[in-house]
Amino acid sequence: MSADGEGDGPDHGVPPEYDPYLLREREDGEERHAFWADRVADEIESRSPDDPIVIKGGISPSGIPHLGNANEIVLGYFVAEVLRERGHEVRQVFTTDDRDPLRKLPRKLADLDGEIVDLGDVNAGALGKNLGRPYTDIPDPFGCCDSYGAHFSTLIGGIAEDLDIPIDVVSNTDLYERGELDDTVADLLGDAERAREVLSEYQDKVDEDYYPFNPICAECGKITETVTGVDADAGTVSYRCTDMEAGDRTIEGCGHEGEAGFGEGKLPWRFEWVAQWDQLGVDFEPFGKDHAEGSWPSGVDIALNVFDTEPPVPMVYEWFTLDGQPFSSSEGHVVLVSDVLELIEPEVLRYFFATDPSKAQDFSIERLDQLVNEFDRLERIYFGEIDADDAEAAFAERVYPFLVEEVDEERVRIPYSFAAVLGMTDDPDLREEIARREGHIDEDTPEWAVDAALERVERAREWARRTDNAYNYDLKRDEIPTVDFDENVEAALDELADFVERHDDPEEIQGEIFETARRHDVDVGDFFAAGYRLFFDQEDGPKLGPFLAKLDEAFVLARLRRER
Ligand SMILES: [Zn+2]
Ligand SMILES: [Zn+2]
Repeated sequence: MSADGEGDGPDHGVPPEYDPYLLREREDGEERHAFWADRVADEIESRSPDDPIVIKGGISPSGIPHLGNANEIVLGYFVAEVLRERGHEVRQVFTTDDRDPLRKLPRKLADLDGEIVDLGDVNAGALGKNLGRPYTDIPDPFGCCDSYGAHFSTLIGGIAEDLDIPIDVVSNTDLYERGELDDTVADLLGDAERAREVLSEYQDKVDEDYYPFNPICAECGKITETVTGVDADAGTVSYRCTDMEAGDRTIEGCGHEGEAGFGEGKLPWRFEWVAQWDQLGVDFEPFGKDHAEGSWPSGVDIALNVFDTEPPVPMVYEWFTLDGQPFSSSEGHVVLVSDVLELIEPEVLRYFFATDPSKAQDFSIERLDQLVNEFDRLERIYFGEIDADDAEAAFAERVYPFLVEEVDEERVRIPYSFAAVLGMTDDPDLREEIARREGHIDEDTPEWAVDAALERVERAREWARRTDNAYNYDLKRDEIPTVDFDENVEAALDELADFVERHDDPEEIQGEIFETARRHDVDVGDFFAAGYRLFFDQEDGPKLGPFLAKLDEAFVLARLRRER
């Protein structure tokens, strides 16, 4: 359900105080905030939680942890920061559901450098033998971490580190192995009838043989769903290793019958989610809208009526798309946070998440320049350099300090598309010289700010390269490409050089390129091609007039005259 008003009121079967559509517009005269995270913080504070306030996110370790998953970290981070500002101690945790069984082979994986590889490029056979076993019991396909699950957790930790967000990554397997969920398992199994009664409202096939615990088979290591008895005093269950349905296939059990302790298995996921809230004392958890209709209502019910505990403040967020399409690990339609940070500054990426999580958005790599421009605008509004309407000004005022490491008015930004133009040359001195000539840097700009501004050039260069867009050209500065022009073209180039010597205006130079070609009876297309050959050793290039106007004149004149 999106914010555009389909459906009205909480019809998802949860008490109104647990309506997960927290950010939906409300009519009553409640205080309006410029920043959604303040609205969430109000809601959390209204429950008078003890410090530290615990904010959680989490995912199951299948596939690749990508930019879309960063919602689970960054949205919680903004709420955490608002609460810290209000004087609370906050702990942000991220759970990896790494005791979940591997149900199917992922088609793509990511190594620790963020390279996405096909399953065939790693040891797929070894993975295939491990279907049905917990992720933390499966060898790391890359061989670098203790297990498949640990590899995934390391990647998650990397996302948070890249965005400079302090989180505690909590492994479910660790919780079970340290016995931290033993009491929870004991309570659930002690009143299995209650668990069955509540769960049967949400799930078929919950009969009197159902137990809310899935042991790990001591023989084959797979998770089995067939518990045959409970010995509460001994703290064990007896089980039979049976087949597991995994989508359209069956993972075969080995038939072994044995006993398992309460830490030697896992809770079914609807119970496990609630057990995490209970064990970690979770006060707030954002989740994607796929959870809003299914697992959230059952989670609320199980928390209130089985665990006798209060569920956390929920918040549904909209999924965003990547260049217009949903993220898909299996199709390889993903981008990693580490990749994005090679294209834009961390503060720009944080800004993307700071806008409205209840609205569907697109993260467009193709049009990354627009996102950067929006951020630059926000920054300039914050520093009072440009006018904005009240809402925009209030948003900038409230949000900007949460985006940057340090608020510093002396910071300068080179517009992203201009940075991409600068990226056509890899000479750092020339980049700086042009940026100064175009007025993006002046004598008062401190050295650190010059360096920081020019860092954007490398990123915009990488963007041009990766998207192969209109800025993806390499200025051949060091050496003149091999050229062979006829005398008309040569005469026209000489004349164009004379014009550039006397004129600086980009559009005038652009117009003169057409005029010079006509005067010398040279086909206009051929004349532009001659220019691109001279400067880029290619048949095409950026809009030539404005580009030449930005370069240093001595170089442009010498090159047009084929001297160097
Ligand atoms: Zn690894
Ligand atoms: Zn088995």
